[in-house]
Amino acid sequence: MVIIGGGKAGARAAIGFREHGWEGSITIVSDEALLPYDRPPLSKAAITDEADPHAVLLLDEGMIASLGVTFVGGAGATSIDRKHKTLHLANGDEVPYHKLLIATGAEPRRLTTPGAERALMLRDLRDAVEIRNAFTPDKNIAVIGGGFIGLELAASAVSRGCKVTVIEAQPRILMRGVPEDISSIIKARHETAGTTVLTGTGISHIDATHVVLSDGSKVSADIVIAGIGASPRTQLAEDAKLTIDNGIACDAGMRTSDPDIFASGDCCSFPHPVFGDARLRFEAWRNASDQAEVAAENMLGGTKTYRAVPWFWSDQHDLTLQIAGMPGLGKTIVKRLLKDGAFILCHLDADGRLVGASGIGQGNVIARDVRLLEMLVGKLSKPDLAILADGTAQLKPLLKP
Ligand code: FAD
Ligand code: NAP
Repeated sequence: MVIIGGGKAGARAAIGFREHGWEGSITIVSDEALLPYDRPPLSKAAITDEADPHAVLLLDEGMIASLGVTFVGGAGATSIDRKHKTLHLANGDEVPYHKLLIATGAEPRRLTTPGAERALMLRDLRDAVEIRNAFTPDKNIAVIGGGFIGLELAASAVSRGCKVTVIEAQPRILMRGVPEDISSIIKARHETAGTTVLTGTGISHIDATHVVLSDGSKVSADIVIAGIGASPRTQLAEDAKLTIDNGIACDAGMRTSDPDIFASGDCCSFPHPVFGDARLRFEAWRNASDQAEVAAENMLGGTKTYRAVPWFWSDQHDLTLQIAGMPGLGKTIVKRLLKDGAFILCHLDADGRLVGASGIGQGNVIARDVRLLEMLVGKLSKPDLAILADGTAQLKPLLKP
């Protein structure tokens, strides 16, 4: 069993092989030298904590040893020879495989405006260390992109005493996948913290001291951050002539167009049975883990289908946002008010089926209800709207058949 990529999906698959009784060899090939580590802390604790940024390992030395995994770090895979079932590495080595998992993740989209070379991007620990060192008190930080990276880093920069301006090209922040009722609360929270949030604003160029906007006005920028989205890392799969469709195209069991090659996580697309087999691709932590579990089982001959309801979270200042399901498929919204101003929007399609839930609140206040709503989405439920709308009513009884 050979895995390309030592991220969340790669690490979870290695554990999955042993859980499902595989006693043969497992090799993880990673272009990063570090053992598999978690990315979500990179925009949050790695920047805000007093301690220097460090990797939160998903597999430490002890786990690697007890799982019997061979970790080949700092050696990217350069090509897949499907005929001879062999992986070629940048250091000249060859790794034969019985089954191969591609878990290469995604990479930041690059700004192309003049001066873009000044912009820092965040995907790995090295990037986080560089950004953390740059966020010193009173520095002017211009964040290009009002998505998850941009906003989480904006909050983290403020906590380190920086002055932050977020510049978003769309008419509002978090335009993709987050309802306006929630994005407006997040915007207000950033503004209360002293951040300037500019929306519907394009960039002309970046000079030595400023980001120059398309209307000619200037935003002071000692440091520029670009968080303008990510693209799936598909080059290896493309070169190997695997089918690509908004990522490496998999079936619902995470198999690619080659029966000996599977994919999981940010790099792949797949049909989702809960949403009418629509082909989707997610860039979220739990999805990477759930898909790798399915892939590992199926690589050992299993017949499992990936049908977990997508879920992700984002922490910004003292607010936590959680989204489950596919809110964008909803036609009607029912608002569920919880304590301390927290709320959850329940998204229902034209037939009254719950297709998503999106919530915002401080700490963990929305977590339990979002979890129950996520389960209802997975059960294709058409819940009682009065119960959804009543924040004091228990959701658990709705799960009973
Ligand atoms: P990755 O974690 O990207 O791992 C892929 C690995 O493959 C990388 O190590 C890469 O270097 C390696 N690789 C690529 N090509 C090759 C090659 N040719 N040869 C060898 N190795 C290769 N999600 C949430 O749900 N909530 C959050 O709060 C959250 N915060 C995030 C914060 C940051 C800063 C980032 C970057 C992401 C965050 N995410 C969050 C998203 C989440 O981390 C990703 O969805 C998850 O890491 C995807 O896992 P993966 O294994 O598919 O890919
Ligand atoms: P993102 O959430 O897609 O947000 C990028 C934003 O920048 C979008 O609104 C995008 O608009 C906008 N944009 C694009 N080009 C721009 C330009 N030239 N000027 C100004 N704005 C521009 O992506 P991201 O925040 O960069 O995150 C990258 C990756 O990290 C993703 O995989 C994400 O899932 C992951 N991540 C996740 C979390 C989380 O889930 N909590 C946290 C951090 C990171 P368009 O939509 O028009 O392109």
